[in-house]
Amino acid sequence: MKGKCLCGNIEVTTPDQKELGLCHCSMCRRWSGGPLFAVHCGANVTFTGSDPVRYQSSEWAERGFCANCGTHLFYHLLPSNEYILPAGLFQDQDFHLSNEIFIDEKPNYYELSNKTKKLTGQQVFEQYNSDNE
Ligand SMILES: [Zn+2]
Ligand SMILES: [Zn+2]
Repeated sequence: MKGKCLCGNIEVTTPDQKELGLCHCSMCRRWSGGPLFAVHCGANVTFTGSDPVRYQSSEWAERGFCANCGTHLFYHLLPSNEYILPAGLFQDQDFHLSNEIFIDEKPNYYELSNKTKKLTGQQVFEQYNSDNE
């Protein structure tokens, strides 16, 4: 599937995805202004046009954005080289919201009615560690 930033300087191509996750963590909310609707795209992600700016937001991850328009382009897990991209880049895609993570960091001012699997931050780290053992 193909997506692009607001100004169009950067295009991204990834394998097609259906599943969508939502992250309520405090960092995603500060970064994007709200919870982050995100698509796990694996390592096979290519950016064309301008190079995304990369900001290392933790020991294990960096976040990318367009230097011209500021559109958020990716969350990149460094140990596994996995790219997680904001759903909003892909306007033609029909996603299914299946899970919400860091539900324990969700503020009280919103509540989704979607039926999803909900994980706390601790459960996310436990799952990540068991996937990588
Ligand atoms: Zn842009
Ligand atoms: Zn997050």
